[in-house]
Amino acid sequence: MMTLLHARDFVQRGHQVTLVGPTPYHYYSGMGPGVLSGIYRPEEIRFHVQKMIEDRGGRFVQGKVVRIDGSTRTLHLASGESLVYDVASFNTGSEVPKDRLPVVSDAMLTVKPIEKLIEGKGLVLELLRAGAPRLLVVGGGAAGVEIAGNLHRLVQKEGRTAAITVVAGKRVLAAFPEKMRRLALKSLTARGIDVIEGDYVSRFADGRARLNDEREVPADVVFLALGVRPSPIFSDSGLPTGEDGGLLVNHYLQSVAHPEIFGGGDCISLEGNPLDKVGVYAFRENPILLHNLLAALEGREMNSFQPQREYLLILNLGDGKGIFCRRPWVWHGRLAFRIKDAIDRKFMRTFQVSGEH
Ligand SMILES: Cc1cc2nc3c(=O)[nH]c(=O)nc-3n(C[C@H](O)[C@H](O)[C@H](O)COP(=O)(O)OP(=O)(O)OC[C@H]3O[C@@H](n4cnc5c(N)ncnc54)[C@H](O)[C@@H]3O)c2cc1C
Repeated sequence: MMTLLHARDFVQRGHQVTLVGPTPYHYYSGMGPGVLSGIYRPEEIRFHVQKMIEDRGGRFVQGKVVRIDGSTRTLHLASGESLVYDVASFNTGSEVPKDRLPVVSDAMLTVKPIEKLIEGKGLVLELLRAGAPRLLVVGGGAAGVEIAGNLHRLVQKEGRTAAITVVAGKRVLAAFPEKMRRLALKSLTARGIDVIEGDYVSRFADGRARLNDEREVPADVVFLALGVRPSPIFSDSGLPTGEDGGLLVNHYLQSVAHPEIFGGGDCISLEGNPLDKVGVYAFRENPILLHNLLAALEGREMNSFQPQREYLLILNLGDGKGIFCRRPWVWHGRLAFRIKDAIDRKFMRTFQVSGEH
């Protein structure tokens, strides 16, 4: 986002800047669950990236990169088009590994890209008009907890009822302090959300999710919150990757094999220090990427990215409250959501230029 915002600096120095993206808009996932429940409108959480780049003298190519040829510095797009670069920055994020569930149906929605949550909201509203739908969330991590809580808000706001179930895998918020799990469980179950721990969905067919212990959970819509992983473009292209398939980069956020390839956010794996897939790191990498991309083009010295060890994470529970976690502090309440809302809105204001969303 920061490089986009400063694209004119590149253009004024005589460089051509091209942004490749699948849609003219980019949605901020941190506020995605709030769009599902209606706390936010889609326009409030998106950036018109096409307009951002074009207003600053760059070019927008609507498409998806499917392969990178590092030796000829060429990007191949799904459309068959190719683009040659001097310096490239990958910020392709992550996706939900939906291939972990064998059957894919129209009633199954991943929590990323965020457009899927907007689609999911429409689907749930349609079902609510017809009766009391059964809504299933697969995954009990941060995204799963937020989706379940915000689905409950959506149902309440419509004055209807729905059965909401979370199949949490090992346990709810397994990667976080135990106190966070307890607070999340209490919040969800107090609202009548059924949370199943110690079990996994093994398949979904004919409107039923089959669990490992053979139990069945009927579901009209399934939200897949199975965690995220980088897209396979880097490994498919033969570039060095970390264990999770993310582009392996050094502390200059530079590919360890191709010094003219950079990357940031969920799609990279920092050499010797793989980071959690959270917005905090993506955000803090912004100024480093901006500086290093220009430095690489002009042969100047690069800056090094030093990740912080601990970071703040606040979950939006959908009931106006949040869970605040900044190890070792974990607490719950309205203030937590208010802090998250203020941080998220500030982030949007930083990059959502007036008239460009
Ligand atoms: C439901 C949910 C809630 C979250 N809440 C929080 C939170 O509260 N706080 C927090 O810190 N983190 C949160 N996260 C994590 C955080 O959103 C991510 O870490 C952050 O969005 C990563 O930013 P990014 O720019 O790397 O990727 P993304 O935001 O995923 O952006 C990737 C972009 O690349 C585009 N793209 C993908 N593939 C290609 C391709 N092949 N070619 C061209 N373009 C491509 C995509 O369309 C997208 O525009 C949440 C995640 C989810 C799923």
